[in-house]
Amino acid sequence: MNIVILLGAPGSGKGTIASNLAAENTNLKHVSSGDLLRGAVAKGTAAGVEAKAYMEKGSLVPDALIAEMIKDVIAETEGDVTMLLDGFPRNVAQAEILEKTQAPIKSVVLVDVPDEIIAERISGRRSCPECKAGYHVKALPPKVEGVCDKCGAALVIRKDDNPDTVKDRLVVYHNETEPLIAFYEAKGLLKRIDGNQEPQKNAEAFKAAM
Ligand code: ADP
Ligand code: ZN
Repeated sequence: MNIVILLGAPGSGKGTIASNLAAENTNLKHVSSGDLLRGAVAKGTAAGVEAKAYMEKGSLVPDALIAEMIKDVIAETEGDVTMLLDGFPRNVAQAEILEKTQAPIKSVVLVDVPDEIIAERISGRRSCPECKAGYHVKALPPKVEGVCDKCGAALVIRKDDNPDTVKDRLVVYHNETEPLIAFYEAKGLLKRIDGNQEPQKNAEAFKAAM
């Protein structure tokens, strides 16, 4: 098992890239911290109950809470698998927790998208509450409006995708997550791709970089 970390702002498209690549390659496993947390919230586990308020505000949940979930997934992932780790680590403290697991990090890919474009992307974002597929009303519309192509469920707008919360999430990204760029650059692991392209092109650029 090894790990490729996806770095990028909320709405950078890293989740879409990772889930599309994982769907077409059985050696890739997409692990999204946001999906793990939303799953815990939906199930009403102790971690989910604790995480809910942080998520709705657009702030980070406590490091230990998400780190325990990620460590569990790492522990249960064996064999010839590359984990596409999406949304974790989100700050330097989490990156240090990840180092301690000694899971080998193959590369860190920064999906680069300007803030102006992020806001527009998130406002059109729709997601499937059942299978977690992501859509966009303009850039990546489902075949039938409001309906998931993959599983037929009704698409939803995530609570934390409202414009005010999006602003807060971008601030959190710049303050807490961006320092990871220098952190991984210093280790010689960082690659950058232009995330401001069509989904298919983004995925190709990512594959080439990882
Ligand atoms: P996005 O990347 O679009 O912001 P995510 O689905 O990755 O969305 O995350 C949604 C929310 O889940 C975040 O705003 C935050 O509250 C929480 N979260 C996800 N990953 C982490 C993490 N590694 N550390 C702390 N909180 C996290
Ligand atoms: Zn679905």
